Amino acid sequence: QAKSGGPGNTTIFDVSMHDEVRERIELEVALRRALGDNDLWVAYQPLIDIETGRAIGAEALVRWTHPERGPISPAEFVPIAEDAGLIGMLGDWVRQEALRQLSAWRADGTVDDDFYLSINVSAKQLTEPNFPLVVSAELLEFKVPPRCVALEMTESVMVDNTGTSARTVFELRELGVKLLIDDFGTGFSGLGYLRRFPVTGVKIDRSFVIGLGADEEAGEIVRAIVAMSQALRLSVIAEGVETRPQRDTLASFGVTIGQGWLWGPAVAPADFATAWHAGGAAAQIAAAQIAAGQ
Ligand code: C2E
Ligand code: MG
Ligand code: MG
Ligand code: MG
Repeated sequence: QAKSGGPGNTTIFDVSMHDEVRERIELEVALRRALGDNDLWVAYQPLIDIETGRAIGAEALVRWTHPERGPISPAEFVPIAEDAGLIGMLGDWVRQEALRQLSAWRADGTVDDDFYLSINVSAKQLTEPNFPLVVSAELLEFKVPPRCVALEMTESVMVDNTGTSARTVFELRELGVKLLIDDFGTGFSGLGYLRRFPVTGVKIDRSFVIGLGADEEAGEIVRAIVAMSQALRLSVIAEGVETRPQRDTLASFGVTIGQGWLWGPAVAPADFATAWHAGGAAAQIAAAQIAAGQ
């Protein structure tokens, strides 16, 4: 836990603050440092064409390996970054790292020309009026076509179509990047925004995928999401697919893109390239043979 001794260290908080608050402050301080050091990295999880099993894209997911504590989940530190005003810096870093990686993969043939990276954007980043300009400059810098980038945002962004965030969303779409609603179905914002905003696709939240097979209602919800998405010409990605029956059910409902441990978790760039090289199956079989010592 906290290192003891040394001036300016965390022991000062021990007397007066609850453990939770102290823990948060420690993480915030450590995260600030991690942003400057090399403790953050980006993992890539394939987005799979359910029919062919090929990776048509990947989601970039930030990872933090704390020097003493080891890996800390983004579910824990992203909210801290948001509260501490660090999400802009964190988001910039992840996006630039991801674009640099995509650029390298496009150049060396790891991925084909239509492969896209999906990058999470926090609601706070979209309140920054400069955000689309920054993204646009980065696409040019890294020579990445806009269609090869998707930005994932949550429904909470879509509550108001008059403010800065709304303008930002429209400007991003004008750049040509894809706009996906993350964790679709878990917000409480109604569905009207799907017509008011230039959204290009939805990611069905894992909580609905988990229920497939076991729970009839989950199936009906997924079916309804697919029908609606087809009517609105939105792409549909199913998150958190872990089993073959889930995959088969999703396919029978007309879902064409899946993401989940059934195909593979988020991994370091080198491992992603090995497993999901545009050479596809051949590369995977080769890797498996090497692993088996053949
Ligand atoms: P998310 O964007 O909904 O990402 C999907 C999460 O589900 C990831 O967790 C992924 O590792 C996990 N996952 C994928 N397939 C499966 C599966 O089959 N089963 C299960 N149980 N889980 C699966 P992760 O990487 O821990 O990220 C958690 C959340 O942290 C993300 O949820 C996203 O909201 C946030 N996050 C991650 N990276 C970033 C980032 O760069 N920026 C921002 N703003 N948020 C990020
Ligand atoms: Mg996401
Ligand atoms: Mg998600
Ligand atoms: Mg999620």
